[in-house]
Amino acid sequence: MTLEQLRTEVSGAVVTASDPEWDDARRFHSGIGEPMAVVCVSSVDDVRAAIRLARAEHQPVMVRGGGHSAWGGVPGGVTIDMSALSSITVEGDLVHIGGGATWGAVAAELAKHGLAISSGDTASVGVGGLTLGGGIGLMVRQWGLAVDQLVGAQLVTAAGDVVEVSATSHPDLFWALRGGGGNFGVVTRFDFRAHPLDGVVSATLAIEGDPRPVPRVLRDVLADAPRALTVTYSDVPAMDPNAPAGASIQAVWVGRDVDGARAALAPLIDLDGVTVAELEARDYPDILMQMPAAEPDQPMPGFVGGNTLLRMLDDEAIDKLVSFREAHPASVVLLRSLGGAYGDVAQADTPFPARDATWFAMAGAFDVPGMLDDAGRAAAQEAWDAIESHGQGSYGNFTVSTDPAWVTRMYSPDTLARLAAIKREWDPQNIFCRTHNVVPAAA
Ligand SMILES: Cc1cc2nc3c(=O)[nH]c(=O)nc-3n(C[C@H](O)[C@H](O)[C@H](O)COP(=O)(O)OP(=O)(O)OC[C@H]3O[C@@H](n4cnc5c(N)ncnc54)[C@H](O)[C@@H]3O)c2cc1C
Repeated sequence: MTLEQLRTEVSGAVVTASDPEWDDARRFHSGIGEPMAVVCVSSVDDVRAAIRLARAEHQPVMVRGGGHSAWGGVPGGVTIDMSALSSITVEGDLVHIGGGATWGAVAAELAKHGLAISSGDTASVGVGGLTLGGGIGLMVRQWGLAVDQLVGAQLVTAAGDVVEVSATSHPDLFWALRGGGGNFGVVTRFDFRAHPLDGVVSATLAIEGDPRPVPRVLRDVLADAPRALTVTYSDVPAMDPNAPAGASIQAVWVGRDVDGARAALAPLIDLDGVTVAELEARDYPDILMQMPAAEPDQPMPGFVGGNTLLRMLDDEAIDKLVSFREAHPASVVLLRSLGGAYGDVAQADTPFPARDATWFAMAGAFDVPGMLDDAGRAAAQEAWDAIESHGQGSYGNFTVSTDPAWVTRMYSPDTLARLAAIKREWDPQNIFCRTHNVVPAAA
């Protein structure tokens, strides 16, 4: 297969550096890539042809779903642009979603049927990348991770075969897809079980002054809260028009019961320095953030820090997180509640780490020239390492690092060995390596 042959085989465009559409075609959400070619697929056969090209050219495959990860910036490879494969079909509570759809489109379509899937917090994020990594959503305590709502998928393998996977069809591969990243093939269709939803209560609590007492009370509230409540605590510099600068709590309550949500949040609302900026019933699609794409000449900055999953959010970890934010003016700190349905899934049932975690924590200083020198970088890393010692495992989707060693932070040795054995079966030449890469196990 050559580029010229591919052009005659696929129904969508095949774009290379000599084409006028090149700059548009190689853009992803947070920058501009340098692939060998971009293949805009609109059918399963197109995907198969693009994989044949990559193999013939000895190039890795970069699958671009919503384009929000950092993998689009790694040079070389054949980019498969999935955006035209974005159909959403509803059959009762079973939803078939094309591998290039975005979560905003899914939420809008499902709302017409009184349904929802707990996914992520941002409309433009891809169903593909978020789901294959796990997917921590705004209703994770009610319905679990995105992968916990996944019941099947269709994928094109490295060999070009079209495979249907579910709990009963290639169960090992289905297991690997639910948190093992984009290592195993190109998913052309995801099948989810959706949930009835008539709306949510959305609350924003702004925090003034020393934020330290707030995460402590938040932790205690969540320890006993109904699963309907999922919260995010964030402390961010002014960087995006959607997110309030400073410390705040974003809460989502499943259903339109404003009084129930207010009662659950009362111990927080009563704290000194906490004010209610919003507490109202909303349609779920309307609370997803709209995040503008980065300008090509201003790509997303690097990040010194990390994320981890915490069995317990203890006072020491809270103090370290707040101190991290105080020490670095251009930094973010994030806590997202887990537990509830997230913890109902047995550890062995998916590759996702730490099912006994009750909180997800992230902290990082933006590595912007002029803002972080070598000493600042070292201090941020040391401070993060101290926070990470409270946790277990990392969530790969929430890092901008493309360091191949990241997989060892994400998975336990046993999980990584099982993923590597499945990888050997389905992608022995490792063409799907533009992801947190599970290297095929040795034969
Ligand atoms: C603004 C923003 C908000 C976010 N919010 C959340 C959140 O609330 N919760 C959360 O869990 N994560 C969140 N994330 C992280 C997000 O889950 C990851 O960045 C994810 O990789 C994005 O998926 P994508 O399809 O948009 O990215 P892409 O860059 O298109 O894909 C990432 C990788 O996924 C694989 N992939 C994508 N589609 C397919 C497919 N169809 N078949 C096979 N492989 C595929 C490929 O390996 C690809 O390299 C957020 C990220 C951003 C930038």
